[in-house]
Amino acid sequence: MKRVLITGITGQDGSFLAELLLEKGCRVFGLARRESWYRMNNASHLAGRVEVLFGDMSEGVDIASAIQHAQPDEIYNLASQSRPGESWARGTETLLVNALGPMRLFEAIRHHRPKCRVYHASSSEMFGQISIVPQNEQTLFNPVNPYAAAKVYAHQMAKIYRESYGLYIAIGILFNHESERRPLHFLTQKVAYGAACAALGISDSPDLNEMGRPIVQRGKLALGNLKIARDWGYADDFVRAIWLMLQQERPDDFVIGTGQLHTLEELCEVAYRCAGKDWRVNVVSDPALVRPLESGQTLADFSKARKQLGWEPTVNFDAMVKKMVAAQILRLKNVALNSN
Ligand code: NAP
Repeated sequence: MKRVLITGITGQDGSFLAELLLEKGCRVFGLARRESWYRMNNASHLAGRVEVLFGDMSEGVDIASAIQHAQPDEIYNLASQSRPGESWARGTETLLVNALGPMRLFEAIRHHRPKCRVYHASSSEMFGQISIVPQNEQTLFNPVNPYAAAKVYAHQMAKIYRESYGLYIAIGILFNHESERRPLHFLTQKVAYGAACAALGISDSPDLNEMGRPIVQRGKLALGNLKIARDWGYADDFVRAIWLMLQQERPDDFVIGTGQLHTLEELCEVAYRCAGKDWRVNVVSDPALVRPLESGQTLADFSKARKQLGWEPTVNFDAMVKKMVAAQILRLKNVALNSN
């Protein structure tokens, strides 16, 4: 039985990936922070089916002992301070977890499990302000926030360890991928939540935004720049690509995205339409929520993944948004039920 270790198992991708690997008959270990594991998280429903190793990616000793304990054949390194917007306020943590964490992981693998196959999570945020559209594996990076800069460092270290020590490290440059498991402070989930509030007639939401105010206040959802455009895919599709990368004979880099660009306005339009509402009545742009420097037009050219991995996205933009809005409506109804 193949032994696999997932860092970041409590996250969106970690939980989908754990389900996929269990289906494939793997013995799944997950590195998780103790406090996260004991509260409701995306992988709570997998308790008893996955083996949890407590640890923090900012502690080299935790990483090494997880590897020694799990003795994995495959490691999926997903753990990260994964909010680019918040990385300004949490610069040191972002550096420790997203840049030094992977470096310590590669070092531990080199010493304790050099034959293990590794997936490392890079990000389309690394492209930053670029003029070349779409982007592929050859496109140069120009990061514009601390999250992206830390990811570029880890990306380079992954390559350096692969080339210097012959480690099997595959790198996925994934574009935005979303799902009903996205935490509430992510843009797409906020929109789904706002639409769900509109559908249920909630004018002041119980959940707060990053400024400590209700996400929906007096019937309005406040967002940053509504003109930004992103290549948004569905997370469950993307973890299939991640798994495929480690089943290749040789480690390689792959861009994963949908090749379709949608603006934030379009996202709002679809989400509020799913809720039977007009987004223009319910959404406002708040300058305080605009990032200091916005990324350019990031759009995936995933032709290499299509050709070499045989990978294609299967869930389109509208279907994904519909799932997210439906999940938020259900969640808010449950919150209301439990508070009565
Ligand atoms: P996510 O839902 O935010 O999950 C992040 C995971 O990392 C969580 O399990 C979190 O645990 C864990 N983590 C954070 N800090 C940690 C620490 N100090 N020690 C141990 N674990 C820690 O992110 P995701 O969407 O699944 O993304 C997975 C990976 O892909 C990340 O590396 C992300 O940067 C990258 N990526 C994501 C996207 C996307 O659109 N989703 C796009 C490109 C790249 P807690 O539960 O304890 O917080």
